Amino acid sequence: MTTRVGRRPRSSLAGLLVALVAAAGCVVGGVSEPEGQQPAPPRPGGGSSPGAEQNRADGTTSVAEFRQDVADAQSIAERYWAAQFRASGQRFRPIRRIIPYQRAGEVSCGGQPLPRNNAVYCSAGDFIAYDVNWSVAAFRQVGDAFVFYLLGHEYAHGIQARLGIRYSYTIQQELQADCMAGAYLGDSVRAKALRLADGDLEEFREGLLAVGDAPDQPWFAEGAHGTAEQRTESFFRGYERSLAACDLG
Ligand SMILES: [Zn+2]
Repeated sequence: MTTRVGRRPRSSLAGLLVALVAAAGCVVGGVSEPEGQQPAPPRPGGGSSPGAEQNRADGTTSVAEFRQDVADAQSIAERYWAAQFRASGQRFRPIRRIIPYQRAGEVSCGGQPLPRNNAVYCSAGDFIAYDVNWSVAAFRQVGDAFVFYLLGHEYAHGIQARLGIRYSYTIQQELQADCMAGAYLGDSVRAKALRLADGDLEEFREGLLAVGDAPDQPWFAEGAHGTAEQRTESFFRGYERSLAACDLG
């Protein structure tokens, strides 16, 4: 499986991205609550078809291409985490579903309606849900590498749930998810499951700089994800040194 993460033209990403993760809840419904709604298991085809091997770095930003990138990122994340679990002798269960939505309240997590402009992992139903219009806008403005990061970050919350990891402070949970997203991407590049185009690393870097918390956000706040420096440091620590750098215990 080879997927090229092509480069797209970047425009000013700061404005959108600040709104992007400021709004993102990431973990909704608690990390360890098993109950809640259970969406039906079937997922759309999932894998990277041979078509994914084509060079798609042609500057197009269609919704179809966005969907393909989401499917590729999901497939690569599943394979990556399945291999990690296998290596430690544990059975791996992929995240049940990845659900795009368009309207506020269209999807709920543990009885809590999800707002627009958000992407979350819902432990209550073991699914990732994202506002598709908001995500496509981010994809168009920032580039495709960010789709792989975003999916990887939310997928990491699902892995934390599987491993029973729950920190006292949101920021610890979030920075670890950034590290794990970095590890999945870095290891997938090293394993040649994913190929980065020129500029993708810089795209991650710029994106992470833009999604840091505002300077006046207290680190212990419930929604804290970390400063731009903390998020960048965590992501690239995982990217360069793999999961050993992510304190998974
Ligand atoms: Zn998160």
